[in-house]
Amino acid sequence: MPRNAHSISRRQISENALKVLYRLHKSGFKAYLVGGGVRDLLLGQEPKDFDVVTNATPEEIKRLFRNCRLVGRRFRLAHIVFGRDIIEVATFRGHHDTSNEKISKSNAQGRLLRDNVYGGIDEDAERRDFTVNALYYDISDFAIHSYAGGIHDLEKGILRLIGDPDTRYREDPVRMLRAVRFATKLNMQIEAVTAAPIKQLAPLLKDIPAARMYEEVLKLFFAGHAEQNFDMMQEYGLFAPLFPAIQAQLDEYPKGACAKMMHAVMRSTDERVKADRPITPAFFYAAILWYPLRQRADEIASESGLTTNDAYYAAMGDIMEQQCRTISVPRRFSTPAKDIWQLQLRLERSLNTRAFKMAEHPKFRAAFDLLQLRAEVEGGSLEKTATWWNNFLNADEENRSKIVRSGPRGNSRNNNGNRSRTGNRRRRPANKQPKAAE
Ligand code: ATP
Ligand code: MG
Repeated sequence: MPRNAHSISRRQISENALKVLYRLHKSGFKAYLVGGGVRDLLLGQEPKDFDVVTNATPEEIKRLFRNCRLVGRRFRLAHIVFGRDIIEVATFRGHHDTSNEKISKSNAQGRLLRDNVYGGIDEDAERRDFTVNALYYDISDFAIHSYAGGIHDLEKGILRLIGDPDTRYREDPVRMLRAVRFATKLNMQIEAVTAAPIKQLAPLLKDIPAARMYEEVLKLFFAGHAEQNFDMMQEYGLFAPLFPAIQAQLDEYPKGACAKMMHAVMRSTDERVKADRPITPAFFYAAILWYPLRQRADEIASESGLTTNDAYYAAMGDIMEQQCRTISVPRRFSTPAKDIWQLQLRLERSLNTRAFKMAEHPKFRAAFDLLQLRAEVEGGSLEKTATWWNNFLNADEENRSKIVRSGPRGNSRNNNGNRSRTGNRRRRPANKQPKAAE
């Protein structure tokens, strides 16, 4: 497709990506914008990032750019660093007809552990995942090269894997998740042959390193299509291998609290993304794992005879540790997630003067948000608790004192008039207070 036959102009491409493309081109190398950047621009969407591909080897790229870092083992790549912006530059990938383990390696299931065979643009296109991602924008003449019918599929809204789907999913099972993600993000249909093997191969996701899985899951749930992706992952059996504890509850109680919570979390995440409000993995993981946590806590309490509080703390460690085996949630998020869990118990017990102190906790807001989701899911007394907190938070200083004095049910049945503040506090022994998280 020559320049005058398509809609992409250089103004839509980031300055840094253009710099990289031009420098490679002027040094005598081939240089293309490739994949999602081209695809999204053709669809009129704003690309998340711009990826570049070239015939220069990583070493040659490094010699051209002072701000270059070579990264990756499975795929060797060059990162050209412009402050916070990074342009990823890959070398054309070739076929795996080599027996050299240093550059090409796969495991018994056919998963590629190393993929560093270099080739030309034709071979590179065959190594891409979907036809709509095999689009190349040539910086030398501004033409677009479409392989495997990419442009045609893009126009028709068809998501089609290049090559034999079974082989391509075995090479990299994450492609199954990418199929779901692109289908919802680009509003495309997964073509029948591409969709067919997914259900059967979904369990292969268990073998993907947990660190990579963490990144993929963020892309699935933090980009505005969480609810659709969750539903489609259920349809294809892609959720279970990543979230076994949650799936166990969904299977046992398909219409139960956990299922409702999942939809509530996904929907509220999507709404926040749309409204440009902040989202954090700490809250996300605390919320989706809440019901598995409660079940685990109940089990521990009945097996061991620990107090409710102690059983909860033990369960927090269990549940988070189990989740991290498939998705390694960084500690900077798993620790505050546990704080949010811990505060759930306290929120329900602090409909009194303790509310003032609680509201100052750094994770209070997130904890209150989870309480509201739980109230939405369960109704009943939780709804009353959430309403109490809502009233408290929306009141001015004077009215807050009134609310606190009027007790959990909004009257003074539980309190003894004005003396209840101290009275209440004394009656709850110190050892019943939740201890700090581990
Ligand atoms: P987005 O950036 O919106 O997530 P993208 O298509 O740009 O979508 P990237 O992960 O940025 O996805 O990858 C850039 C390109 O590299 C893809 O368009 C595709 O051509 C290729 N690619 C990425 N991951 C794979 C994979 N697992 N298997 C084969 N090709 C891939
Ligand atoms: Mg991209």
